[in-house]
Amino acid sequence: MKTDLPIGILGDGQLALMLGEAAESQGIDFLGFGADPDSSFAVRYPNRFTQGSLTDRTALNEFARRCSVLTLENEFIPEPLLRSVVADAGVPIVPDPDSYRYFQDKISQRIFFEEHDIPGPKWLKLENSRPPFTFPFVVKAAQGGYDGYGVRIVANETEFQEALLQFRFAEGREILIEEKVAIVREFAQGVLLDGRGNVVFLPLVETIQRNGTCELALSRSTLPSDEVSKIANLVKSSLQKLAKTRLQGLFNFEFFYTQSGSVLINEGAPRPHNSQHLTIDASSISQFGLLMKYLAEGKLQTREIEAAPSVMINLLGKSKGSVYSLTLPAIPEGIQVFPKLYLKKECRPGRKMGHLNLVDPSGKNDLLEIGEKILKEYQL
Ligand code: ADP
Repeated sequence: MKTDLPIGILGDGQLALMLGEAAESQGIDFLGFGADPDSSFAVRYPNRFTQGSLTDRTALNEFARRCSVLTLENEFIPEPLLRSVVADAGVPIVPDPDSYRYFQDKISQRIFFEEHDIPGPKWLKLENSRPPFTFPFVVKAAQGGYDGYGVRIVANETEFQEALLQFRFAEGREILIEEKVAIVREFAQGVLLDGRGNVVFLPLVETIQRNGTCELALSRSTLPSDEVSKIANLVKSSLQKLAKTRLQGLFNFEFFYTQSGSVLINEGAPRPHNSQHLTIDASSISQFGLLMKYLAEGKLQTREIEAAPSVMINLLGKSKGSVYSLTLPAIPEGIQVFPKLYLKKECRPGRKMGHLNLVDPSGKNDLLEIGEKILKEYQL
């Protein structure tokens, strides 16, 4: 690795922005690459930004040659392209293409989890347009979905056919069908893996998902503590199995806790993740800081990262316009308030514009109740 060169971030959205900020605060040099000169990263770091398409091999190669190591903030670069850039430019990428490839596609993820004996929902790859399970069940686009855009729970034949149309099954797109899990709670946990069996665990968080989007993430679950310990152990044992594979990089894994008491893996992402944003203000090092430090130093420093009692509230746009500002309702005294806007040029209803972290050092407040109130009342 040419260690005197900056770390290269592929992608220019809010995750790239926060990777950059975490690097900057640790004195680590970095550059970013993406298509949009109005993006979060480009607006914040114009002098560190290279404009180019994430599918342009020449531009990617040129960028890669200016970097010591690459990382990425989304799963949208085709894996063969990523592999060729690493080979052509002679620059490593974390996650490496072998780790990354499973997570570009919900079907290959499911196969990967099964191969490593990690329990998940019953699933199959759709072969024809007849419903393979009794209704209701879940239809997922194998590729390209995010924030629930590629997921539909269908209750009858009409909805099933609508989902096939929406996910362009007739045009050859692959579709995954899953049993509809009786979810009691959803959890997420990040891990940093070095591909040699070593692992850093990020905090286990409870996520509140509605309409396919994570609205809140809590560092303390709303379930009784003995139940949470059981869940945390099951999640950890699944993640330990993944640590024994050759996966390398920062990952986030989402889990369902079901009515029958099992913990099923939903999906993974080979990058920083929205559900771990509370580590920015509630932990000794954030998910972003952890990854950049690892890339700069090449070794894992800690085993476990904890989070103080905290909640993260995703701030989606509620209005439309290029001039916008965040207004929050009153928040009880003693709670630390950390709003973060992603510098997007235009606010639009439903667009992810930022997040708000609340940290409660006393541990005495009901952060779910406070989070729900803010979610309803904030203006943006
Ligand atoms: P995305 O990749 O778009 O985030 P996910 O696969 O994470 O999509 O699904 C989004 C949400 O849809 C989940 O957080 C969960 O609430 C719900 N969901 C997904 N799969 C299932 C399932 N098999 N059974 C019940 N609900 C599901």
